[in-house]
Amino acid sequence: MTYVICEPCITVKDKSCVDVCPVDCIKGTDDDKMLYIDPATCIDCGACVAACPVNAIYNETEVPEQWTEYTKINADYFNK
Ligand code: SF4
Ligand code: SF4
Repeated sequence: MTYVICEPCITVKDKSCVDVCPVDCIKGTDDDKMLYIDPATCIDCGACVAACPVNAIYNETEVPEQWTEYTKINADYFNK
């Protein structure tokens, strides 16, 4: 299981979630349009959810229907 960053992160990218992640699995460069969670490293702690000012982060079982493709988008970022 993992958590997933969805569309609201795009352009916001304030990295509040990065600071609270205990396993440092939230990545993204200045050139990326959003940040991404590495599903292979995420320990499902949920700490990032409350840190996000725009409610962009969801447990993969609770990703809103309009953003379901973001589960794959997050995983694909780490399979480049
Ligand atoms: S759920 Fe926890 S481990 Fe996973 S990305 Fe969020 S803060 Fe990091
Ligand atoms: S806290 Fe939310 S908006 Fe900020 S970088 Fe993380 S997912 Fe994106």
